[in-house]
Amino acid sequence: MTTLLSPEIDVIGELTERCDRCGAAAKLEVTLISGGELAFCGHHANRHHADIVRVASKIRIEDGFSWAGK
Ligand SMILES: [Zn+2]
Repeated sequence: MTTLLSPEIDVIGELTERCDRCGAAAKLEVTLISGGELAFCGHHANRHHADIVRVASKIRIEDGFSWAGK
């Protein structure tokens, strides 16, 4: 997958946030280019992966989560 803007991606052991959409345990956290942060469960991280890549400056993925946007 090729993108013009590639956010920095870190894999970390465990996320403590909750998904902003549904409240499930977050598998992915996003620091936005515009500032601010979002968290997504696995389901929503994969559903919105194209949008996440476009607006993210940094992404943190929980170890073992296979993300569609990577
Ligand atoms: Zn969710």
